[in-house]
Amino acid sequence: MKLVSYEQGGQWRPGILVQTSVFDADALLRAERGTGAPALGSMRNLLQEYGPTLLDLSGRIDALVASQPQARVGELGNLSLGPPVTDSAKVLCIGLNYNDHVAETGRALPTHPDIFAKYSSSLIGPSDDILCSKITSNLDFEGEMAIVIGRSCRNVSEEDALDYVAGVTVLNDITARDLQYRGTQWLPGKAVDASTPVGPAIVTLDEVGDVQALDIRTLVNGQEVQHSNTRYMIFPVRKLIAYISYFLELSPGDIITTGTPQGIGAKRQPPLWLKPGDVVEVALEGVGSLRNVVG
Ligand code: ZN
Repeated sequence: MKLVSYEQGGQWRPGILVQTSVFDADALLRAERGTGAPALGSMRNLLQEYGPTLLDLSGRIDALVASQPQARVGELGNLSLGPPVTDSAKVLCIGLNYNDHVAETGRALPTHPDIFAKYSSSLIGPSDDILCSKITSNLDFEGEMAIVIGRSCRNVSEEDALDYVAGVTVLNDITARDLQYRGTQWLPGKAVDASTPVGPAIVTLDEVGDVQALDIRTLVNGQEVQHSNTRYMIFPVRKLIAYISYFLELSPGDIITTGTPQGIGAKRQPPLWLKPGDVVEVALEGVGSLRNVVG
């Protein structure tokens, strides 16, 4: 099942993508939730309610769609998609999580995950323009797999960790390198308003298969600049969730982006900085693609 947030009348609405059609989640689920149930209204609320039974819902979705054709909102190409979760309470980002990327930065291998944060205000949709080039002359790309949490958890084991994942999406951890390296904390270069494309959908784990076996590629103006596989992550998803949930509670709609492989613009000779008009794409096998223009 593929979950999206789409825009309608100036509001983000939770939707379910079936083939190329978007269905309104509230309308689709109305019959089974009852007309008296409060509207879900957002992807975060949908995950709050359906997180524990998401795989069951995924198995029923074709039958639901067949029985509720009026819930169809439109074709994917005619709708504006936001980040799949538009109001995540936490956006946690892992730095230095691929061996070849650690090597290109000249740093030592981390003994524990390196973690920084973005905010919901950093996130944009899968086709939105990246509008932060005016505040930096060192705008860089980082193609990444991101995990969306489906159930609250605290201090979970690696063994159980995937039970708390709603699904997988794609994230471009766009970075203003000059701002990142002004101090020891990376946040100013990472949490720039409206900088970070995410989406297009949260793909549930029954469709993704093994999250540690997905090909990931980044292209700038059609040229491949990053190409790796999630099997090369130093700290796999199970370890990240166990590690993070040891010190904080993860909640439905929280995002963990899992780090980028080798090939970032800053470490190329000469460096490859994104400039207005550039097109940057990130594709994650079986999950989807981002395509954004730098404005
Ligand atoms: Zn990153």
